[in-house]
Amino acid sequence: MSSRAYVGLGTNLGADLHATLTQAALRLAALPDTRVAALSSAWRSAPVDAGGPDFLNAVAALDTAVPALELLDALQVIELAYGRERPYRNAPRTLDLDLLLYGDLTLDTPRLTLPHPRLGQRAFVLRPLLEIAPELAHLATGEDWHAQRIERLGPLSL
Ligand code: ADP
Ligand code: MG
Repeated sequence: MSSRAYVGLGTNLGADLHATLTQAALRLAALPDTRVAALSSAWRSAPVDAGGPDFLNAVAALDTAVPALELLDALQVIELAYGRERPYRNAPRTLDLDLLLYGDLTLDTPRLTLPHPRLGQRAFVLRPLLEIAPELAHLATGEDWHAQRIERLGPLSL
């Protein structure tokens, strides 16, 4: 049985942010029992809780039979593969992969909270998410995210 999961991708460190996002999406597509059902455009956003240069963000919709915690494990393996180095505290990150939603599962554990707790207030999550899943607009909370600087670049092709 497969579930619809949404993964947020973000990067703001490295020579080619576009290539990092594309390669990360390809890694998602290569997970066992998983297909990428949709991939948003690349969006450029101002850092919200982090410092450093602008981020490049995207959201992927997955149809997957991998259970939620195993999927989180897999996301963290991909993050490490992209050398998620922390040269100093709160450093910009090479690649951040967040599990935004996993079917209609709700979970509140130290390792995994679902839906992702900050999903509804962050333009860099909501804009790409609603681009590929406009039916999820009810997940947006408040108005703060409207003021966050973000712009759509081009489509990401796999
Ligand atoms: P953030 O993405 O919040 O900037 P990190 O990527 O360093 O920070 O994540 C910190 C921890 O958040 C991870 O070790 C992970 O176990 C936990 N976590 C809890 N819920 C989630 C989720 N839905 N998606 C990804 N990580 C999560
Ligand atoms: Mg994260």
